[in-house]
Amino acid sequence: MSSNSYDTLIIGGGLVGSSVAMHLARLGTSGRIGVLDYDLEGSFSSSELNAGGVRATFSQPVNILLSKLSIEFFEKHAHEVGYRDCGYLWLRTPEQMNNAEASLKTQSKLGWASETWDVSTLRSKIPFIDKTSDLAGAHFAKRDGLMNPNLLKLFFREKAKSSGVQFLDRLWVTGTEKSDSGYILSCNEYARNLTEDQKKNIVTHTGVSPVIGSKKIKTKRVVIASGAWSTELMKLFGHKRESKPLRRQVCIFDCRDVDLTPHGMIVDTSGVYFHPEATNGLAGFATTNERPGFRFDYDGESFFQEEIWAKLFERSTKFERLRHLTGWAGLYEISPDETAVIGHAGDELYECHSFSGHGAMQSYAAGLSLAELMTGGKFQTIPEIAALSAERFNSGKLIREGAVI
Ligand SMILES: Cc1cc2nc3c(=O)[nH]c(=O)nc-3n(C[C@H](O)[C@H](O)[C@H](O)COP(=O)(O)OP(=O)(O)OC[C@H]3O[C@@H](n4cnc5c(N)ncnc54)[C@H](O)[C@@H]3O)c2cc1C
Repeated sequence: MSSNSYDTLIIGGGLVGSSVAMHLARLGTSGRIGVLDYDLEGSFSSSELNAGGVRATFSQPVNILLSKLSIEFFEKHAHEVGYRDCGYLWLRTPEQMNNAEASLKTQSKLGWASETWDVSTLRSKIPFIDKTSDLAGAHFAKRDGLMNPNLLKLFFREKAKSSGVQFLDRLWVTGTEKSDSGYILSCNEYARNLTEDQKKNIVTHTGVSPVIGSKKIKTKRVVIASGAWSTELMKLFGHKRESKPLRRQVCIFDCRDVDLTPHGMIVDTSGVYFHPEATNGLAGFATTNERPGFRFDYDGESFFQEEIWAKLFERSTKFERLRHLTGWAGLYEISPDETAVIGHAGDELYECHSFSGHGAMQSYAAGLSLAELMTGGKFQTIPEIAALSAERFNSGKLIREGAVI
């Protein structure tokens, strides 16, 4: 087999592609496995730009199961993947408290119990939350927490490499054609020393793309694990998908009057979420007026002032002196029902994408599940994942996730 020939090629070397690769190799997939990306470092990948939150506090059973299995893995490898079971604390208005009831029952049935706190319990446990007149209480899921996405990606990749998976860098897939034995992919080739601006031009399809050559890669099977670019990849293979890239911003702030370090993720009633980041705080918010597209511009101080501080100011007197330090923007890959697409797209094409803001936390179980499908023909560990095939958008069997932040 030539060096440009693979049995399985995964397009996308983020957390999801790396997890699929590790699991395929572990399950003893025969033949040569490759993971291809234009930038394995991942400067603009969502795996590099996320908030590191992990939770099974979802409304849909399949999302709870995907996260639960992943978190059980994080618990076992806590040191290697930087996992801390510091919990998710959801502050609730009376209406949110009622609306969460059904999800809490589903979570509890699936082995993911949350504590319900009234306002006085909340104030005694988290004294800095002292503006509580709009609250009915809070839910605290103590096995949810935080992990280090870089360590997790490294873990997946090291295990994959040690089982023979090859990682191909500096190649961007631009076209595909069917061959007798699978697919031939056309790729743009880039130099090692790409600048951040050049990388941004490539992923946003703007400016000058510094191509140095082209390459054809042959493969029998393809996995699309291309994050926010998956819809355009699926189109190259002749499949229409409705998922869209959407900008999401997070910022780092100096929280000089509060020590956040003993806490995990806190989700305010406004939708602002925050957690400790070394000795500072990290906060994010899904602004509602985003238009889909490959946008990485960060709004800076105005994002912090208008979307974060204005809301946190209303939650604590200790948040009156917060100070913006820095921040960034990355992409969510949003599916129509905000649940991932995992499945077989026909011929020798598989897909695993559109995690809609929860792909880091679900990457372990998603990779295992797709690898099970590819090697054994079915989802063994979590059979419910069969419902995540893209076919659901044609048949109207959407799996609308209500707990998205
Ligand atoms: C601000 C923000 C906060 C988030 N917070 C959380 C959180 O707290 N918890 C959580 O679980 N999730 C969170 N997420 C979501 C999470 O980061 C993603 O769901 C997850 O990283 C998706 O991983 P991936 O491997 O599918 O995609 P990516 O990491 O984006 O990887 C896809 C890769 O495909 C490559 N690629 C694409 N097209 C091509 C092509 N044509 N040729 C070659 N390579 C290609 C890209 O270069 C990229 O490296 C957040 C996301 C953002 C933006």
